[in-house]
Amino acid sequence: MNHQPFETWILDERPTTPEERTQLEKHLTTCRRCARLQTSWQEARHQIATAPARTAPKNFVSHWQSNLVLFKEKQKRKQAHTLLYSFVAAAVVALIALSAVLLPKISLISVIVVTSSAIVRLVEFLKEIWSVTLGLLRVAPTTMIIVVGAMLAGWILLAVLAWGVSVWKVSVKKVVNK
Ligand SMILES: [Zn+2]
Repeated sequence: MNHQPFETWILDERPTTPEERTQLEKHLTTCRRCARLQTSWQEARHQIATAPARTAPKNFVSHWQSNLVLFKEKQKRKQAHTLLYSFVAAAVVALIALSAVLLPKISLISVIVVTSSAIVRLVEFLKEIWSVTLGLLRVAPTTMIIVVGAMLAGWILLAVLAWGVSVWKVSVKKVVNK
C-alpha cells in the first residue's frame, strides 16, 4: 500500500484542503500503519505541549559560570602542583645522577652521613654556646656583663685596628715600591 502523501500530511501539519482531509481520513480507516503513526504523533505532540517547562533555577547561568571559573582555577592549581612536583623530582634525579657521575669514589650514603653529622655537631655546638651564655647572664652581675662586653668590644676594636693598620701598611708599601 502506498502511504504517501498521507504520512507527510500527518507529520507536517500543513493545512490540507477539504478534499485532501477526506482522502486522509479514508486512508486512516483502512491503513493501520498510518492510523498508528497519527495517534503516536498526536500523543507525542500532546506530551511536548503539556510537559511542564523546566525552568532553570535562578542564577543558574551565573552559578554555572562561577563553577566553571572555580573548576578552571582548580585545574590550573593542579597543573602548577604537578609541574612543581615534576620539577622537584627531576631536580632530585638530576642531583643523584650528577653525584653518581661526579663522585664515583664517595658513596652517596657516606656524603649524607657526613653532612648530617656535621649539622648535628653544629647544632649541638650552638646549643652549648647558647646555654653557656644564658648561664653566664644568669650568674654574672650586671657590672660583670658590662665589663665583659667592654672587653669584647675592645678586642673587636683592636682587631679592626690591627687589620686596618696592616692594610694601610701594605698599601703604603705598594706606594713606596712604586
Ligand atoms: Zn497508510
